[in-house]
Amino acid sequence: MPKPSYYMLNFKRVPIKQEKPEERKKDFYRVVTLGYTKEEAMREASRCLGCGLCIQGCPARLDIPGYVQAIARGDFAGSLKIILRDLPFPQICGNICTHRCEDNCVYNEPVAIRHLKRFVGEQFNDYAPVINHQKKKPTGKKVAIIGSGPAGLTAAYYLTQFGVECTVYEAAPVPLGELNLGIPKYRLSKDVIEKEYNFIKNAGVKFNFNTKVGKDITFDEIYRNYDAIFLGIGNMKPNLTGTPGSDGKYFYHALEFLKLANLGEKIEIGKKVAIIGGGFTAMDSARTALRLGAEKVYVLYRRRAEDRPSYPSSNAEEEMEETVEEGVEFMWKVTPIEYVKDSNGYIKGIRYWKNDMVGSAKEGRLKPVPIKDFEFFLDVDTVIEATGQNVDFSFLPKDLFEKLRMNRNEIWVDDNMMTSIPKVFAGGDAVNETKDFISAVADGYRAFKGILRFLKIDFQEKEKVECTEVSHIMKESTEKNVRCDTFVPL
Ligand SMILES: Cc1cc2nc3c(=O)[nH]c(=O)nc-3n(C[C@H](O)[C@H](O)[C@H](O)COP(=O)(O)OP(=O)(O)OC[C@H]3O[C@@H](n4cnc5c(N)ncnc54)[C@H](O)[C@@H]3O)c2cc1C
Ligand code: SF4
Repeated sequence: MPKPSYYMLNFKRVPIKQEKPEERKKDFYRVVTLGYTKEEAMREASRCLGCGLCIQGCPARLDIPGYVQAIARGDFAGSLKIILRDLPFPQICGNICTHRCEDNCVYNEPVAIRHLKRFVGEQFNDYAPVINHQKKKPTGKKVAIIGSGPAGLTAAYYLTQFGVECTVYEAAPVPLGELNLGIPKYRLSKDVIEKEYNFIKNAGVKFNFNTKVGKDITFDEIYRNYDAIFLGIGNMKPNLTGTPGSDGKYFYHALEFLKLANLGEKIEIGKKVAIIGGGFTAMDSARTALRLGAEKVYVLYRRRAEDRPSYPSSNAEEEMEETVEEGVEFMWKVTPIEYVKDSNGYIKGIRYWKNDMVGSAKEGRLKPVPIKDFEFFLDVDTVIEATGQNVDFSFLPKDLFEKLRMNRNEIWVDDNMMTSIPKVFAGGDAVNETKDFISAVADGYRAFKGILRFLKIDFQEKEKVECTEVSHIMKESTEKNVRCDTFVPL
């Protein structure tokens, strides 16, 4: 049948392929979600109407229609250039972003913005030759970045472009913070991390690994020697519930557990594993336990499914779906009383109460209150608490810590991301409430501009890549024989 000569809105998303659950849970190296092909990416990108509503959902305010429409017309280098204006990690973002932009998309089946960004990253082994940045002359200014997570490296990358010398101090042996230490390899491969770390390093950022500020070098020394400091220290201090029996063998906090798994170190777990918590750290711990050989994995959360962190969002849905597909069992509205140990100190089960959800929706989130009349027992031999984490301030001298203003649990910053300590800036999980990758990038970018202002370095908007109009895209893409039923009528 001949193709129609008019174009229709396309409500259907181009599906993305996934490894089968029974296959992917066999090891850490099978990445769950596979990428788009060129044809699929162009077809999916060409659904975009260019309305820009998604931009409001993106903490980093990326020019989403700009880079998506560049993909539609087959201009992948152009798309990459647009992304790199605000985000130096296209492929990492394309793998693990919480993609809140997609929740804003006008379609019920939103344009697959995250997968498209991943596709663009995958097209280039190295981004540097594509953007061919003309670096500014050295300014003589030096900035120390404490923590090599996405917030710190975003600030470092853009500052370097403006002739500022950036030196990163990182406690861990590897870069990129929780993306490398927390997120398992089956969601974000080490090759992708290495590629984007190399891009930042080759841009001129200097790195010191295995260097914990406060232990291997004092904060005072850094404060004296640099013109400004950026704290991208994340939330690295485990929050433990203190439930009796937490000293049992095969008890872990999720951060420690995931870090061991990510660094390829030996971890001993039993066959029946309970995860306490309901956020992405809990899901990652559950799926990691499966890949380490656990036969039965439970996630115990004190609230209801719909109360878990970041719900409702398509990200929370996907995460839950993938975890259930792999065979993890969820137990909602549960409060552990004790991790029961045997005579050798090994955990042999959990005593717990079930909870009532109390309060009214008007008062905000319902509160879980244990019903203490009945006790239950779950037969497990390993407990992993994914019950949150806090900022570790142990690196700060007491007098400076006292000067550091807090905003409840987070570090307070002004509009330039400067803390209450002069010349010390901060961003990422230690500062924002959303605590996800793209918010850390957004903070790092804001801090880069704030630091430039503080150092009195001229900031001109980076070169804008023109965003082609939809009509032009239609013409070009049709000429390239892309399926044309995905385009908007004029
Ligand atoms: C298991 C897990 C899964 C996640 N999954 C997702 C996801 O799918 N999508 C998403 O968007 N977000 C996810 N996140 C959240 C995301 O990883 C964080 O929001 C993001 O990494 C925060 O970035 P950051 O720059 O604040 O610092 P972090 O990534 O937290 O890194 C901080 C770095 O600072 C270093 N550091 C701290 N103190 C010192 C010191 N004194 N000296 C030197 N170095 C120091 C640490 O070693 C660390 O490398 C996940 C987090 C975890 C733990
Ligand atoms: S991705 Fe969706 S919301 Fe964003 S510009 Fe395209 S159609 Fe509009």
